[in-house]
Amino acid sequence: MKNRRPTIPIADWKLATDLKLTREIQNQPGTPTYNCNCTWCQNWRYYSEIIFPETIQQPIKRIGVALAKPTELYQYKINKNGVDVRAIYHAIGKILEGPIHQQHTDLGKSLFYTTVREQPHLALTILPQSHSQEEAPILKTRSNSELIRIDLRIEIPHELLKNQQALFT
Ligand SMILES: [Zn+2]
Repeated sequence: MKNRRPTIPIADWKLATDLKLTREIQNQPGTPTYNCNCTWCQNWRYYSEIIFPETIQQPIKRIGVALAKPTELYQYKINKNGVDVRAIYHAIGKILEGPIHQQHTDLGKSLFYTTVREQPHLALTILPQSHSQEEAPILKTRSNSELIRIDLRIEIPHELLKNQQALFT
């Protein structure tokens, strides 16, 4: 069976992904979230279904990425509106279009994010994994495609966290 290579828009980017290879690298042993018992990993299936708008959820699922199983997931800041979480996903394919993901400023190199939503804050950047030093799954099959890093920063409102606790206790 030939693998479909759909061109999928996500925010400002357009990706052509290999569905089969992308599915192969989801929830890979050795990645930071694999079998992780932290609250975020345990409950991400719930949060991911309600925190991302359809315009982000749909394309991520369509390219073969498991929304509930990011490669990396961690909380990095608490502010008055909620908790800021970073979720990193990986796909196999090519970035066809999109803004330049790195900016050189006086402070050095920094990642460029596209704001998808102001409240609760949601921002995203997509880049080739080869441009990042951070952890990633390993593609075991030979392919001309590359590993793509989908990097999201999401604010989870305190209200939602309270509701979620109520659901699970
Ligand atoms: Zn975790």
